[in-house]
Amino acid sequence: MRLTFCGADRMVTGSCHMLEVNGKRILIDCGMFQGTKLIRSLNEKNFPFNPGEIDAVLLTHAHVDHSGLLPKLVKQGFKGAIHCTKVTEELCEILLPDCGHIQESEAEFANRKGKRAGMTEVQPIYTVDDSYIALKQFKTHPFNTDIEIYPGITVRYRIAGHILGSSIIDLMLNENGKETKFIFSGDIGQPNQPILQDPYRISGADFIVTESTYGDRTHEVADREKELCDIMQEALAKGGNVVIPAFAVGRTQVLLYYFQKLMSDKKIPEVPIVIDSPMAIKATKVMFMNPAEYDEEAQSIYDKQGGRLIDMPNVRYTQTPEESRAINDMPSPMIIISASGMADAGRVLHHLKHNLWRADSSVIFAGYQAEGSMGRRLVDGVKRVKIMGEDIAVKAHIYNMTGFSAHADKNQMLELYQGMTHKPKAFFVVHGEYTAATTFANTLQNELGTTTVVPQYGDSVVIDGTDWKLEQTTIVSGIPEVQELREYMRTMEKTYLAYRNRMEQVALHDNSRVSELKTKLDKIKKYVEEMMKNV
Ligand SMILES: [Zn+2]
Repeated sequence: MRLTFCGADRMVTGSCHMLEVNGKRILIDCGMFQGTKLIRSLNEKNFPFNPGEIDAVLLTHAHVDHSGLLPKLVKQGFKGAIHCTKVTEELCEILLPDCGHIQESEAEFANRKGKRAGMTEVQPIYTVDDSYIALKQFKTHPFNTDIEIYPGITVRYRIAGHILGSSIIDLMLNENGKETKFIFSGDIGQPNQPILQDPYRISGADFIVTESTYGDRTHEVADREKELCDIMQEALAKGGNVVIPAFAVGRTQVLLYYFQKLMSDKKIPEVPIVIDSPMAIKATKVMFMNPAEYDEEAQSIYDKQGGRLIDMPNVRYTQTPEESRAINDMPSPMIIISASGMADAGRVLHHLKHNLWRADSSVIFAGYQAEGSMGRRLVDGVKRVKIMGEDIAVKAHIYNMTGFSAHADKNQMLELYQGMTHKPKAFFVVHGEYTAATTFANTLQNELGTTTVVPQYGDSVVIDGTDWKLEQTTIVSGIPEVQELREYMRTMEKTYLAYRNRMEQVALHDNSRVSELKTKLDKIKKYVEEMMKNV
């Protein structure tokens, strides 16, 4: 059998792995590349395999960086089943058509500009219709149940605790009488998150493909509820509105859950809460309809409230743009939760425009703010911003909550793997920027003594039972951008490693310089990370 790495290699998006076993070709995830222009351009390139020759897809969860190219795969000839959990399908029913809509709008925008420049017409990567066609191929399965999708290929979905429906995939394979067990971690959630159950206690496998998003970091704030409570008390005391840009799937629901708790405990005043994002409203409905996935606390709240996880008379959901605009005529204070989470697009811009200039209002960011985004600039303390062509002074108080993350940090992931009784022959560390992935790979190697590999796009592993051999590709056929990216990353890696080696050598001979060198190295690390983002 052979496992080929086709995405999220030394980066955090475009998750895709191809497993060839018993004459079948199976994809684990088929995600969209997100981020900089070069990385996004990979979405338009051919897949490094023939979609018509893929037999099945195993989907870990609904996030677009894991599911977003499924409509393209189907459009290009994939006829097989897309296996996933029930809630993953329900969330994909929201996310994929929305993604198709974005592709159509982007192509339309490019064509409008391109026409004037005399360029040839651009086609969307896929359309809303393509998304609906792909959704027909979804096949759902319960958690913790063996599903033999083909002779000798058995799948088991395990709770990943990352978003509702998210799974860690166990694969039990039998090829030529030899057994091989695989684990694909998907995205792993933090333990003790509200609503969601903790990630499944992994018992082990022969090979593990693991994520490493926060492989070089630990989350600082342990008590999210208290952090939110303190901020809300201060913000609401000012009398103005509180605007929270939040991701529609996951974060919005968690915030609602916390607000219900804080308001019923009388820790914060019962002000109106407006959920102003059609996608968030749909995702909230999916959460309400699936109590089987709640943790114990959420289960008991659901039972106590007669089958309602959130039972707050002060929550209002706004569907239409008219309803959304009418919010600004409502009296303060109120809490407005709206997308996008990084305040780059969507209805939240409208609310920022009406509240940023007010000294009594507040804006709370509750998620990662990427370099260059409006959210990042506000968190960094800019005094003026341009929103929809209008100059806006920033007088509102800007808060940045750091405790919210849907991803486990380095120690939480390590803890998950340290409890294994069946130690793997090798870890393949994916879904992390270069420094996060290599740091986590080194940590696994030091703490567990297991061989680790940080694969590059196009690399593959040939496996026979529990024996394995890495085959590194030097040329990725037909995708010059990938080659360019790989070359670039290789140069950056070499430079960083050379610096590190030299500094380690100096530090060995001169103890007094250790902290000075450490600071320098951290600076270089930061620089490399910044450069990576700008590729
Ligand atoms: Zn995810």
